[in-house]
Amino acid sequence: MPGTFQDKVAIVTGAGGGIGEAIAQDLAMQGAKVLVVDIQSDAAETVAQAIRGQGGTAVAMCADVSVLEQCQAIVDRAIHDFGALNYAANNAGISGKFDALPDVTADEWRRVMGVNLDGIFYCMKAQLPAIEKAGGGAIVNTASIYAHLGLGRLDAYTASKHAALGLTRSVALEYATRGIRINAVSPGPILTPLTRGNKERTDVIAGLTAMKRMGEPIEIAKTVSFLLSPDASFITGAEIVVDGGVMLS
Ligand code: NAD
Repeated sequence: MPGTFQDKVAIVTGAGGGIGEAIAQDLAMQGAKVLVVDIQSDAAETVAQAIRGQGGTAVAMCADVSVLEQCQAIVDRAIHDFGALNYAANNAGISGKFDALPDVTADEWRRVMGVNLDGIFYCMKAQLPAIEKAGGGAIVNTASIYAHLGLGRLDAYTASKHAALGLTRSVALEYATRGIRINAVSPGPILTPLTRGNKERTDVIAGLTAMKRMGEPIEIAKTVSFLLSPDASFITGAEIVVDGGVMLS
């Protein structure tokens, strides 16, 4: 399929639904060969099949990004199936349970950090040498507006997103002259399985935005595709906030 990413290879984590699915779809529709990674194997397979059904190229892989060896296996699989690695969207994330801090167990803290922060570290640790070997490319990590704001009763989530943004910036510095741009996208409230509850709840969340609506996954995907593309050739270590204006007030 012709387009910006024609014949390039991309990994998208957490691509079995929500924002990750939209990223995988958008990259594939612009010509990328996409490894659709999710901890839910059926969900990953469904997304990969849908992409293939639309004429794109995609393979599904079940993996847990909170496990170092599995992140290396993801990169190995991309190279095995598609020959190289050029791009990655490290999007997998979980919110964790709502609890006041004294009630947050150490296991729950580690679970959220394990996916949202360790996952990005493990993925980039495996991806960077492979992308460099392929002659360069780009990575986008998914942070959140809660990389800037506090979110009471979701302390691990908030801490993990602040840290993911810091990690993105420091690694971007290391690779700025080595052909790999590393940026972050920070979504505001986006309508996905993570946020979809009853209408009353989503109306309240939508009310936090200046635009008075929830965002759509494709609105994040288009930003990720831009940051990965050559159109963003002078952008590294940056963050694009896509939040309908939540952070304006
Ligand atoms: P989602 O729950 O709809 O989708 C996340 C996907 O990641 C799921 O398919 C899930 O199975 C997968 N996943 C979870 N743990 C995994 C693991 N350990 N390894 C591999 N895959 C795993 O969530 P979403 O709303 O699409 O969110 C995607 C990203 O965007 C997350 O990092 C989230 O924190 C961030 N984000 C979302 C919103 C929002 O409003 N939806 C706002 C800010 C940031």
